[in-house]
Amino acid sequence: MALPSQAFVLVILFSFGAILGSFFNVCIYRLPEDKSIVRPRSQCPKCGHPIAWYDNIPILSYIILGAKCRHCRAEISIRYPLVEMLTAVLFAVTGHVLLSRGEPTAVLIVYLAFVGALIVLSFIDLDHMLLPDDITIPGMVLVVVLSGVFPTLQEFPGGGRYAIAVVSNARLNAVANSLIGMAVGAGLIYLTGVLGKLAFRKEAMGFGDVKLMGLMGGLMGTWFVILIYFVGPIFGVVFGVIVLLTKGEHHIPYGPFLSMAAMTMVLWGPQIIEWVYGRFRPVFQLMGAVGP
Ligand SMILES: [Zn+2]
Repeated sequence: MALPSQAFVLVILFSFGAILGSFFNVCIYRLPEDKSIVRPRSQCPKCGHPIAWYDNIPILSYIILGAKCRHCRAEISIRYPLVEMLTAVLFAVTGHVLLSRGEPTAVLIVYLAFVGALIVLSFIDLDHMLLPDDITIPGMVLVVVLSGVFPTLQEFPGGGRYAIAVVSNARLNAVANSLIGMAVGAGLIYLTGVLGKLAFRKEAMGFGDVKLMGLMGGLMGTWFVILIYFVGPIFGVVFGVIVLLTKGEHHIPYGPFLSMAAMTMVLWGPQIIEWVYGRFRPVFQLMGAVGP
């Protein structure tokens, strides 16, 4: 009877994701403007009328209201239900994949928080070309601490066999791997920025990207943050071309693409790392990876 219980968990995760997505909308709108994310209650940006709870049901209210404010009939942005739907779907998919892999609950919870952070950061980056320190810096501290508390975190997603052996104590080794991953992630993107500045004589990479890569490396470890570094530009090029053709815009934020790459690793990490290990075995061994 394993199936019905997992289906039940996924329905819960979808609903929970939709509700959190509604809160994420508030964060995306208010965090960059240094406004409180708890007060005041949500209101219509046009007429200022407070939004009643029955008009604030994730995804559904947008459809019921016909995308218009109940009081002034001003258009409600499609962004709101979109963020709610995206969060709901990503929570359910992440839950399904991680539960199918038999991941511990603690790992699932940490990764759902990570997915949430990526959604908020990506949309703020799209709007303002910045990744707020309010999320990235506490996130970086948290992943190191959590790695010490739950050393299994550093074995996700399928990276455990490739963890770098620093010390024999499992908790300390997980903390060490988190710190090494953080340094590698932040270092890679920082160096890219320095080289880009030399080559193009203008700022190529923001410091927000450095901290985001630090956060990703601290949680996912050295190998996955290197993979994110190489996969991110693939997403970036695809969207960059679309944006260039449709809007004539050259400047694109990089956070969303690093996030898409990280999501790819969360969902398909074990398959990807096996494939890469098969091709770069000596590099892994040189770095002290345990390996199969
Ligand atoms: Zn209104």
